[in-house]
Amino acid sequence: MEIKLLLHYGELFLKKKNRRDFIRQLEQNVIHTLKAFRLDLNVKHDSMTVTNFSLDEKPLIIEALQNISGLKLISEVVSVAPDLEYLNKVILKIVREMPIKTFKVVTRRKDKSFPLNSDQINRHIATNLLKNTPLKVNIHTPDYFLRVQILHDEMFFITKQHDGLGGYPLGSAGKALLLLSGGIDSPVAGFLTLRRGIKLEAIHFASPPYTSKEVIDKIKSLLRKLNVYQAEIVLHTVPFTELQLEIYKYVPESYAITIIRRMMMRISSEVMKKRRAKALVTGESLGQVASQTLESLAVINSVTNVPIIRPLATLDKVDIVNIAKKIDTYKISILPYEDMCTIFPNTNPVTKPREHLAESYESNFDYASLIKKAIEETLREVIKIEVDPLL
Ligand code: ATP
Ligand code: MG
Repeated sequence: MEIKLLLHYGELFLKKKNRRDFIRQLEQNVIHTLKAFRLDLNVKHDSMTVTNFSLDEKPLIIEALQNISGLKLISEVVSVAPDLEYLNKVILKIVREMPIKTFKVVTRRKDKSFPLNSDQINRHIATNLLKNTPLKVNIHTPDYFLRVQILHDEMFFITKQHDGLGGYPLGSAGKALLLLSGGIDSPVAGFLTLRRGIKLEAIHFASPPYTSKEVIDKIKSLLRKLNVYQAEIVLHTVPFTELQLEIYKYVPESYAITIIRRMMMRISSEVMKKRRAKALVTGESLGQVASQTLESLAVINSVTNVPIIRPLATLDKVDIVNIAKKIDTYKISILPYEDMCTIFPNTNPVTKPREHLAESYESNFDYASLIKKAIEETLREVIKIEVDPLL
């Protein structure tokens, strides 16, 4: 008898070539994530199996696996040699200890040469449990689905299942640049993007001394939370003060936010291309603030033609907050360090900005050379979890 972990892939409808790439990428990610453990990994076309690990480490291994995108389900299984009577004995011993009253046996017979069909195996196993325990069968809502698989060289049953992240393996869908502020939304947008298999780099616009050093620390702490899903994330910190001061000098207050966002988009698009990323990601969601009306989005969007992903576009704030709590960024996001919008005057922003007005205000100053300078002076560093939490 041996305890194993069975890893089930998500998105199984993928076509042949994509599916091969998907599995190869997933295998690399699993190996990378589990490198601190001693274990064996066996990869098949429909699942992976983890074996030969220490039982003490099992909870840590499962927790690590639950943060890998592309894995839908993680099953703990008990595997035995292909002998139905022996399987019955092991099932009896283990199921007896479970805190359950009802069960249902569901067998998959992958070895078609096995003399009993799956229905007969179900009955055989159920009969044994009914005879030797007080348990009852419940077809529709059992406390425990006793899932059995009959293979050519082994038989196993699943004792427990854990949800995985689902989605696609990280790296299987290219790279995007996340506009990361210190707020609640953008880290959540980053997480949802990572889960689709898209790798991230992050860009943050800082306006020292108006924004404090603590904001940068906050950005890094947020990225360390996302490091759970991507071990290393490049952060670009753009010095934005000069540009911002010019905006407040030449642009009416009501248009300041619109123009600031347009500058951010211009700079982000350049950095994105330089880093060979394929899209921008923001935490914008429709209608939350003045800069997020459809009219605003249009005027902000029109300075660039690169794809902009807005994973939160239609989510409610409560849903966003719930995800932020789940990925543990919420408590960092609500720390009260000012970001630039709380420091610079921001009264009465237009909710329906007009593009030709935005353009005419922008022509009041030489923003192109300020953008160039900001990009040249952008600081680039890699954020990763300093201490491996698995050790
Ligand atoms: P968040 O909670 O992410 O700050 P928000 O609801 O406060 O979002 P805004 O402040 O309007 O919305 O910002 C919209 C998006 O613009 C942010 O989600 C983020 O992607 C981007 N953004 C805003 N400020 C910055 C900044 N200083 N650096 C990088 N990106 C920013
Ligand atoms: Mg914000």
